[in-house]
Amino acid sequence: MLQKTISEKRVKFRSTPQKDEFIKVLRKNINNYFKENNISKHANTELWLKIAVAYLFWISIYSLIMSDWLSDNPILLIVGFSLLGFANIFITFSSVHDSVHDAISPKKWVNQLLARGMDFVGASSYLLRQMHGEHHKWVNIHGIDVTLETHGLFRFTPHQPWKPLHKFQHIYIPFLYSMAQLQWIIFKDFKWFFGESHIGNIKNIKHPISEYFILFLSKGLYYTLTLVLPLIFLSASWWLILIGWVSIHILSGLTFALVFQCTHICDGTTYPMPDEEGNIENNYALHVLATTADFSRESRIGTWLIGGINIHVIHHIFPEICHVHYPKITPILIQTAKEFGIEYMEFKTFGQAFRNHIKMLRHLSNREANVPMYKTENASTIQMA
Ligand SMILES: [Zn+2]
Repeated sequence: MLQKTISEKRVKFRSTPQKDEFIKVLRKNINNYFKENNISKHANTELWLKIAVAYLFWISIYSLIMSDWLSDNPILLIVGFSLLGFANIFITFSSVHDSVHDAISPKKWVNQLLARGMDFVGASSYLLRQMHGEHHKWVNIHGIDVTLETHGLFRFTPHQPWKPLHKFQHIYIPFLYSMAQLQWIIFKDFKWFFGESHIGNIKNIKHPISEYFILFLSKGLYYTLTLVLPLIFLSASWWLILIGWVSIHILSGLTFALVFQCTHICDGTTYPMPDEEGNIENNYALHVLATTADFSRESRIGTWLIGGINIHVIHHIFPEICHVHYPKITPILIQTAKEFGIEYMEFKTFGQAFRNHIKMLRHLSNREANVPMYKTENASTIQMA
């Protein structure tokens, strides 16, 4: 019933001048940082080097697999394929995510070209732009945040109908998260291209014909490179190559899903819902601060490897800023939030974020889970049942 109400209404944020004051001051402070340091909000040399490293890493691993050196040793071959999966997500983290937000370059065509890296690693960049864009707009809002849609396999918010299988969701999470990327590569793009008429809060969507061509072309290229050519040219048995192909997507899929989900679904975040008129009574930046948490912000290696996804609050508020700047501008966000008396959430390590993610999933496995929709003065942490 709730789902129907949301899908029929155009959801919008309805703020107040008082709430808007925070984002005005924050924007001014962030702009001052870039002005005073005379730097661009887009990619720096370090990022361009990282993008080169990501593609070189992919080419090196792929060449190693195709050289047939690993084929005699099944374990090494599967490790090789798994590393190719990590090369796939390294490309996604280092350049695709920023480019779908037009954050890498002021030139639109450069962002569009780099975003096509997603097609290269087997998933539609066009669809990613649409779906990720809707996730950004409606983060943690049941019914229109597409990252919460799991066909009932998980209950990520208290507004989703409870099913008996959810009792075990905190236990089966590693298995299903591991399957997420494989499902994306094989089914998800086709399902959204052919089986859905809306994405998030965009209704009756019509995809450009050119994107259908690109979808089939890029899927064909991905399957040819990663499966058909190894089957033709490697001396390893076909079933081992098939296991290898599946393993491209397992550990990397688990990593990908955990990195994103731990920033929104955890002990401390909220799950706002629009009212009968479709209004979310909040300013978007405040909504982000209530629905998103950072983790491992001070880990330089972690931040480098996962393209700043761990510094996620500032990313949602200013997605047009390239992730290389997040470690420097997040203290500005924290200071400004403090001055306004607004809570900023972070976990010092990934371990903490993961434990809190599991804690929330375990909590939501109860049919009667009580989770706040909005932050109140005393609701900085959720009272677990
Ligand atoms: Zn994003």
